[in-house]
Amino acid sequence: MANLGIPVNTIAVLQKYNFKFRQKFGQNFLIDTHVLDKIIAAARIEGEDCVLEIGPGIGTMTQYLAECAREVVAVEIDKALIPILEDTLSEYDNVTVINEDILKVDINHIVEERNGGKPIKIVANLPYYITTPIIMGLLESHVPLESITVMVQKEVADRMQVGPGTKEYGALSLAVQYYAKPEIVANVPPNCFMPRPNVGSAVIRLTRYAKPPVEVADEKYLFALIRASFNQRRKTLVNGLLNAGNLGVTKEDITAALTEMGLPATVRGEALTLEQFAQLSNLLIR
Ligand code: SAM
Repeated sequence: MANLGIPVNTIAVLQKYNFKFRQKFGQNFLIDTHVLDKIIAAARIEGEDCVLEIGPGIGTMTQYLAECAREVVAVEIDKALIPILEDTLSEYDNVTVINEDILKVDINHIVEERNGGKPIKIVANLPYYITTPIIMGLLESHVPLESITVMVQKEVADRMQVGPGTKEYGALSLAVQYYAKPEIVANVPPNCFMPRPNVGSAVIRLTRYAKPPVEVADEKYLFALIRASFNQRRKTLVNGLLNAGNLGVTKEDITAALTEMGLPATVRGEALTLEQFAQLSNLLIR
């Protein structure tokens, strides 16, 4: 089968099957071999790896993955793509395509069945309408995984990577950085896709930590605190936490904790590092 990273080959497959793009599934297929090479290099796939691909489309990246991994499991929601994938991946006996919604698949079961429960690598050109639920679901559910290397909207990649003092910094930055080390590995312009998306894209690699970089008494409480702090960006941290109403703290508790941390009572959530959120969470929960 011809390399689908070359635009004429993708066009030939789309015409052969009279495929109609479905915007509701975030379908923007990659048509750039350099970008595909970069994603594969960033994913650092080795011969024994089991890779989970989310949304294979017509199988462009799946072909690259199948060439270097032991096994590839690809989950695709659009049933119109299944016969196409059977065709474009017919040369590979190490690819399994599952016609399902990734948010409903039991990934733990896949890891158990395909990789004996050992950590897998996740690689995808993600459908942008569900980037955050996919990534947070993977990280929070503690699926055994080594890394997530994905194409996302540029702005979302920035949000995952930045620290305090930037306008992109928020709950997503902290949640991702609690579980993984983020590295943006490439910026990708719209003309690398068919059809072209309206936004710039970036490839980001998230390397999962064996142990989070901060220690907290209660993870759920930490994340409730973080969410509350960013719910009302222009409010002070004290007001944000009080307005959340689910943290079991008084104004005095919060100001005392902030004083102990050497922070002013007027500080905003967006100024705190992950370490400071962890410290605050441990002070408030006791
Ligand atoms: N990997 C292909 C490529 O790079 O050319 C396609 C990427 S396209 C941005 C996203 C793919 O995810 C589409 O094939 C789309 O149908 C699929 N998709 C969308 N929502 C999904 C979901 N909930 N579960 C699984 N696949 C989904």
